[in-house]
Amino acid sequence: MIINDFHVHSSFSGDCHVKMEEMIEYAINKKLENLCFTEHHDQDLADSDISFLLNFQAYYDTFQKLKDKYSDKINLLLGIELGIQPQLYSELSKITRNHPYDFILCSSHVSNGIDPYNLEYFHGKTKEVAYTQYFETILECAKNYTDYDVYGHLDYVIRYYPHGDKHYKYQDYQDILDEILSTIINAGKGIEINTAGFKYNLGDSHPSTEVIKRYRELGGEIITVGSDAHQPHQLCNYFDLANNILLASGFKYYSIFKQRKPEFIKL
Ligand SMILES: [Zn+2]
Ligand SMILES: [Zn+2]
Repeated sequence: MIINDFHVHSSFSGDCHVKMEEMIEYAINKKLENLCFTEHHDQDLADSDISFLLNFQAYYDTFQKLKDKYSDKINLLLGIELGIQPQLYSELSKITRNHPYDFILCSSHVSNGIDPYNLEYFHGKTKEVAYTQYFETILECAKNYTDYDVYGHLDYVIRYYPHGDKHYKYQDYQDILDEILSTIINAGKGIEINTAGFKYNLGDSHPSTEVIKRYRELGGEIITVGSDAHQPHQLCNYFDLANNILLASGFKYYSIFKQRKPEFIKL
């Protein structure tokens, strides 16, 4: 059983209203061993009406206080989900050095200036174009930005496809997906299996099982498991399915991070 959740939000994230302590108490009741908060920091979100700018110092201070308070019950890790965009590389890199983060999760929420959460992203595009452009953004970022540990939810774009079947076949995007995965592997970084795909009724993880299998085939070893919880009851959601996907993909271990270094835990 996987009892380490490495993608969790609290009210320090613009889209979450649950106090950090409430998340922690729920996690303790669920007998989690390691809980890593990955609060959003997304700059340059022109089309968002809520702020995703993290108050780094307040986050750090509260985290540290609660980490000490609950140290005999759960191991809390300080993470951040950095919204990556090509114009932000040097700024984001500085942010990672300002506090002693355990885990830097790098996520593409914006492609060519727009978040696919905003359905305008899909306007006038076929599904193939919409998905390919998103993957091109990830490739560009993965090639040029390396101050992170794990790249988040690699096929986030599919959550919001508005015109019918959201799914895609790995082989239809094989060239670009292989290049993304190889770039991440060669940089010594990892990917995550993000179980929010099940919450969004995709019937699969982010990225899809096919892509996770391919990552392993290409030599990928570092993979964290995250629920992307924005509510306490979502902690470790669908981790039994993640466990099965990882085993079926050829993984014997998954990863957690402490002080930016991966540790491997048997499945
Ligand atoms: Zn995200
Ligand atoms: Zn998230």
